[in-house]
Amino acid sequence: MKLYVNFQIPKDVEEALEKVFAVTRDAAPDVDAALVVNISPEELEKMPRLRFIQVATAGLDHLPWSHIPPHVTVAGNAGSNADAVTEFAIALLLAAYKKVLKYAEKMRRGDYNRDIAIPQVAGSKIAVLGVGEIGSRVARVLSLLGAEVWAFARSPREGPWRFTNSLEDALRRASAAVCALPLNKTTANLVKYDHLALMREEAVFVNVGRAEVIDRSGLLKILRERPSFMYVSDVWWSRGDFSKDSEFYSMPNVVATPWVAGGYGSVEVWHKMMRQAAENVMTWALGGQPRNVAKREDYES
Ligand code: NDP
Repeated sequence: MKLYVNFQIPKDVEEALEKVFAVTRDAAPDVDAALVVNISPEELEKMPRLRFIQVATAGLDHLPWSHIPPHVTVAGNAGSNADAVTEFAIALLLAAYKKVLKYAEKMRRGDYNRDIAIPQVAGSKIAVLGVGEIGSRVARVLSLLGAEVWAFARSPREGPWRFTNSLEDALRRASAAVCALPLNKTTANLVKYDHLALMREEAVFVNVGRAEVIDRSGLLKILRERPSFMYVSDVWWSRGDFSKDSEFYSMPNVVATPWVAGGYGSVEVWHKMMRQAAENVMTWALGGQPRNVAKREDYES
């Protein structure tokens, strides 16, 4: 079988793949499967025999879905960097929720007044939106800290949380929320002003999923209305050019990082992502059941 790879992968991963596939950098007519970060309509057109696309990232929202023929199975790489994203989400949440950032800023200014109360995670209601690889890890950590975790997704999932498929029930009176939802046609603009307004006045909303899941204008509105509501996010609408969302970064109730939660720059994390992706495409080639097969109906219009 022939596997098309269109980006640089570690040498040992390529050697493992070569035990199962003839690996090529050429989008040729006899290619059976592809291992890619992204793939263009032009590449797809050149590979009429293609039956499987393994994407190296957890998110699949960047693919040219309308150009991928229906008989082609698409698999993502969820889980491969979920530990890294979970650690980052918890770091963002605790730094904001426990007022670490506020006190550090005050100390830098020479303001040593202890005038901000520190809330507890233990006993507080915290919503986790999306309980897949990332969300379930985040929810477990928060549950260990004693939070009353409300997990929101479509299909029920067992764990140390209260499951709901109502976004309203998850967010109502919540002290904090962590969003780890993928972006697809069912989640785009899902979280609106009215949802955010259900949360407590001083709530912290963390986003490590995708910016587009949140209604941008609704978020701006609540941030302007409620100075004590905090939005802490790693993901932004203007993906390549972060400057386009700079109106958020300068707000006193926003904490921004530039899409680094997935272990950005870590060789270990990248290696693990590549190994998991390679194992998955080999599982498919050997007749097994690959992980993270995309629900096409979530992405196709
Ligand atoms: P998973 O596929 O493992 O989990 C996705 C979760 O979202 C599932 O619980 C799924 O459950 C739920 N979900 C999907 N659609 C809906 C919907 N319409 N309503 C409610 N719940 C929904 O993905 P991961 O946890 O691995 O990753 C999630 C996202 O995080 C990625 O898609 C990516 O966008 C982002 N990410 C960000 C990174 C960063 O650097 N900031 C790095 C890695 C990932 P169900 O289908 O049952 O509803």
